[in-house]
Amino acid sequence: MFDMRLISILGLLTVIVLISLVLDYMRLLRRPVRLGLYLAALGILAGFVFTLRAVLPGDAFYGPVFSEVKTTQRIVALTFDDGPNPPYTGQILDILKEYHVPATFFVLGQNAEKHPELVRRIVAEGHQIGNHTYSHLDLLKADRPTIADQVDRTSKIIADITGQPPRVVRPPHGFRDAVVIDVMAERGLKVVEWSVASRDWTNPGVDEIVNRTLGRVKNGAVILLHDGDGVAQRASREQTVEATRQIIRQLLAQGYKLVTVDEILATKTED
Ligand SMILES: [Zn+2]
Repeated sequence: MFDMRLISILGLLTVIVLISLVLDYMRLLRRPVRLGLYLAALGILAGFVFTLRAVLPGDAFYGPVFSEVKTTQRIVALTFDDGPNPPYTGQILDILKEYHVPATFFVLGQNAEKHPELVRRIVAEGHQIGNHTYSHLDLLKADRPTIADQVDRTSKIIADITGQPPRVVRPPHGFRDAVVIDVMAERGLKVVEWSVASRDWTNPGVDEIVNRTLGRVKNGAVILLHDGDGVAQRASREQTVEATRQIIRQLLAQGYKLVTVDEILATKTED
């Protein structure tokens, strides 16, 4: 079961649901109760649960993922996805420099290829780089060789530019199943999700991004923001840039220390 793709599990459940309904319809599974109908309902519920567990950021059902640490230390990690994406990545780097705080950038291989100078700058200024696949593919819909190719190409691009392959990976949308996790584990890549998301990519307004983020932040949190827009690079990230400044200012005022994903991963979870 755990080597199965989510898509295979859902396919199997669909067959079970259909057979159950047919048996119920043919009155073959109705005594003493309408077992066919119950089985069909159970199959639909199971499909829902299996899918939910592949998309919820903190859920370790399909394998280990990291979304936050439980700690009494007042630390948080800022992460930016989908870049590098001018001019926003540079503007965010300027703000991080101004406040002397590190962050982690989960870059797309395709964008890194286009903007190697930004990738170099991220590393030169003390930030961490993570792998976010080559073209922002939904890995639940990709076969194993495609997943491997998306990850390997991106790691190679990053290593060629910076001299160091990434140690962490974030699947697009956070979507993963057992095979996705296995491909990452084979490469020694830690799967990093998040615990605080403001849906900044919908451009809901600077105040919304700031309030949603600060409202959910706590010790050991991993904050998700976006300097890019998938591979499209169409949407403005002006709101995220301004929100980043305010979030950093408020976090520092509240006594938080900002750290990279590697640093927060190295913090032992306290029970
Ligand atoms: Zn993304």
